[in-house]
Amino acid sequence: MKNYQMLIDGEWVNSSNNETFPTVNPFNQKMWATIPQASDEDVQLAVKAAKRAFENVWSKMNGLKRASLMFKLADLIDKNATYLSKLETTDNGKVIRETKTQMHFAARNYRFFAGYADKLNGEVIPLDNDELLDYTLREPLGVAVLITSWNSPVSLLANKLAPALASGNTVVIKPSEHTSATTLEIGKLVQEAGFPDGVVNIVTGDGKVGDTLTKIKEVNKISFTGGVKTGVIISRNASENLIPVTMELGGKSPNIIFEDADLEAAIIGAVAGIYAAGGQTCIAGSRLLVHQSIYEEAIEKITDKAKGIILGNPLDKATEMGPVANEQQFKHILSMIKKGKEEKAELVCGGERVINEQLRSGFFISPTVFANVHNDMSIAREEIFGPVLSVIPFADEEEALTIANDSEYGLAAGIWSKDVKRIHRFAKKLQSGVVWANTYRVTAAQAPFGGMKRSGHGRERGYHALLDYTQVKNVMVNLSNDIRDPFSIQV
Ligand code: NDP
Repeated sequence: MKNYQMLIDGEWVNSSNNETFPTVNPFNQKMWATIPQASDEDVQLAVKAAKRAFENVWSKMNGLKRASLMFKLADLIDKNATYLSKLETTDNGKVIRETKTQMHFAARNYRFFAGYADKLNGEVIPLDNDELLDYTLREPLGVAVLITSWNSPVSLLANKLAPALASGNTVVIKPSEHTSATTLEIGKLVQEAGFPDGVVNIVTGDGKVGDTLTKIKEVNKISFTGGVKTGVIISRNASENLIPVTMELGGKSPNIIFEDADLEAAIIGAVAGIYAAGGQTCIAGSRLLVHQSIYEEAIEKITDKAKGIILGNPLDKATEMGPVANEQQFKHILSMIKKGKEEKAELVCGGERVINEQLRSGFFISPTVFANVHNDMSIAREEIFGPVLSVIPFADEEEALTIANDSEYGLAAGIWSKDVKRIHRFAKKLQSGVVWANTYRVTAAQAPFGGMKRSGHGRERGYHALLDYTQVKNVMVNLSNDIRDPFSIQV
């Protein structure tokens, strides 16, 4: 049993009231570590430490030095990737073949943003009046609060921490109570890399900790990954102090197969979209839109694939789908499956808890396919965040677009077609922050990621993420010796 502590101002500490809570392995429901439940006082201390570190150290350190610390952190994450991935898999049940890749991808993100740390220049702007020199400075915001979800703690953290640090902000991190361990391990690597005390602080605990954090006046930026309901609460808190927010929220992404698609490849893309990570990803292609001429064939093929998915211990490299990450989520998925049946969608396969002897103690749900789903059914409208696919037929391009965009979400979308004109035409009309064509669930450090509509706003990864952690200052310098008229604005 491990007993974790929190990182505040360079010190590993227990909660000031000594409260802890257990963290549970979803594969066997066994408690394997304890995590501190931060008090309000701990949260205040963490923000104060971050503010001090921002004012006294981090904002004064040049970009080259900040970058070199970030490169060290990236090297340490790569070096410890096996250990970190085993821990993450133990904590959230995600298969090891994905968590291992995610660790190296997190390291890649720190390197990508480290490369920008000494290149955050402003610009000189030519004005109408050439007696004025005008330039901009790109400056950090100050203390950034980073709140993450349980499905990919290290990876989600890298999306936020890397641009925040590169652009000169200090941070207070609040991971999900279900999966705090690997974030705390990253804290250890931050220290090993040699970051100054207080630049990175980690407080753990339930939603109350996040709520307290997002109400503090000294916070200058909030970046949140989680559900819409929590996103609304945080946005409300942030608005009281006019704190800018980045919101990475849910999705109900359409994955659209046209009649001219390479069907074999599209079905693999559909599997990647909904059954990878057991569907517990914000970009899950949970609505599979299929042209009516190939609908029956597609249902048959996707059902075959779903039935063949290897469920098992997520630490085993052969396992393709692990358990659902926690009991609350497990119950939610089962309740959505029940709703699908009640609303008369056709359950083609799965739809139940796996109760064979080997998997009985874990939160396993069999890969589920619903056919003949209408876009107004709950299973097509609400985020399930599990291995449940809704297959919806369409007659033509116009109907596919109408169904795809008829969602309150707008995070990701996939198009499968051999017609290159259709791909570009369609990509432009989709209300979605991310569009994949003839592929699905592919990511890159350079490519901006984020949602439209109720999937959120702001971008992570890519150059655009840096903009969310900086502010622009304009400086205007008079170069002339002329005496001006003080009663008229000068242009
Ligand atoms: P939640 O919104 O429940 O929680 C997200 C984080 O917010 C957790 O750390 C949680 O803490 C914390 N939190 C809870 N209540 C508050 C509060 N009042 N104030 C501040 N923080 C709070 O989401 P889940 O963790 O259940 O994650 C699932 C959701 O995340 C899905 O909707 C999914 O789509 C979305 N997501 C989006 C991604 C994206 O990039 N767009 C990526 C991954 C997930 P605690 O867990 O301790 O309660």
